[in-house]
Amino acid sequence: MVIARPIEGKHRTIKNRINIALFALFIVMPFIRINGHPFILLDIPQRTFHVFGLTVWPQELYFLHIILLTLGFMLLFFTALFGRIWCGYACPQTIFTEAYNWVGKLVSGSAFGKPTMKKSHWARVIPAWVLLSFLFSFVFAAYFVRYEEMLGGLFSGNIFAFADSYRPAAWFVFLMASTGIAFFNMVYFRENLCKYACPYGRFQAALIDRHSPIVSYDVERGEQRRQKGQKVGEHAGDCIDCNLCVQVCPTGIDIRDGLQIGCLSCGLCVDACNTVLPKFQKPTLIDYSTIAESESHKVDRSKRPYFRPRTAVYGAVVGALIIAFSTLLILRTPIYASVTRDQELMNINAGGSYQNGYELHVGNMSYGQLNLDLKAEGDGPFEIVSDHGAIQLDGSQHKELRVIVSYKADKAPFTSKKVNFVLTSKDDPSMKREIEAVFTFPLE
Ligand code: SF4
Ligand code: SF4
Repeated sequence: MVIARPIEGKHRTIKNRINIALFALFIVMPFIRINGHPFILLDIPQRTFHVFGLTVWPQELYFLHIILLTLGFMLLFFTALFGRIWCGYACPQTIFTEAYNWVGKLVSGSAFGKPTMKKSHWARVIPAWVLLSFLFSFVFAAYFVRYEEMLGGLFSGNIFAFADSYRPAAWFVFLMASTGIAFFNMVYFRENLCKYACPYGRFQAALIDRHSPIVSYDVERGEQRRQKGQKVGEHAGDCIDCNLCVQVCPTGIDIRDGLQIGCLSCGLCVDACNTVLPKFQKPTLIDYSTIAESESHKVDRSKRPYFRPRTAVYGAVVGALIIAFSTLLILRTPIYASVTRDQELMNINAGGSYQNGYELHVGNMSYGQLNLDLKAEGDGPFEIVSDHGAIQLDGSQHKELRVIVSYKADKAPFTSKKVNFVLTSKDDPSMKREIEAVFTFPLE
């Protein structure tokens, strides 16, 4: 397990600010309720996803697909523009590692992470990390299960799926498994996730180009670095081999060996070298620069070509996805409807008219109330003859209606015809949902 040595500096400050903001978002978002509705909740058992005030039903999963695709292309876009900054500044693994280190230092003091750390220190750190894993897992689980339900269950001791069984509820199993995984990840896996398991790190060579910034060491100026037994100044290169850049690295790599999968582009080694070398009137040997800048030995951030074929294509795709998402959102009708034939009420000839029965499933995909009118339309004298009552739906409410449709005719004109069920909002007649079904006639 690598516990990086703390370091002050420009990148550390930027990283702290971004980490605190993202961490606060992660903690707060699943607990926000707007008029009693979750701001974000991926309710898998109910197959309903509440995302930023929008309720996405299973048949609208394309909204989630577009959101995920947009996030994916944004990652490609920002990687091409600014390098692998996601890993160093915004990845949950990085942010949680910082949080565990902060708590570790809080309970064990300045010995935390140092060779002088004793078993008595670990005896305080480990229980604190177990508790932290549980708290983080609770927040994580609250993205999938209403936190009110979990809190109620935990405080009342009702962690079972049913009142008369000892089978634990799915949320409790999820919470415990997540606590175990979080603890294992932070105590044993940590930087190995970035080095060996994360696919993003492995793809980075394909995601960046000659103009994407990476953290690199100036070999020409740094080498020949100070060797064992040499005093500072007795070596040809500027690197005094203080090893601080390695000690502050969250993945424990030595950037002087070149760009590696383990480099998160966090810039902490830049801060380290910037702390040491100015004391010897030398500028840092490690900095963000592009391959093109390294080759030409000229680093001028203001002249970096940010507009390139790669960034233009990624940017255009992100823009197109945002436009597609916005258009679908504007055109969205919050009325859900599906229909199935009622097998018991098919093909009845009721003297001068034929009747078919249907089960109509209606839902309100908004948070407001819906008052709906229902009509049967089609090529012929279709009419709804059953009394289904007023169709009033509260936010996210479903209803099943048994509907009988008649077709006036003395003799069956066809074997089947299409019939459309039209649901219209009484408050806003432009809000409509049409659903098609088949009306069959008996063979005569
Ligand atoms: S090498 Fe430097 S930039 Fe890369 S992860 Fe380590 S400290 Fe961060
Ligand atoms: S911090 Fe700078 S001077 Fe110290 S070992 Fe790293 S590159 Fe060399």
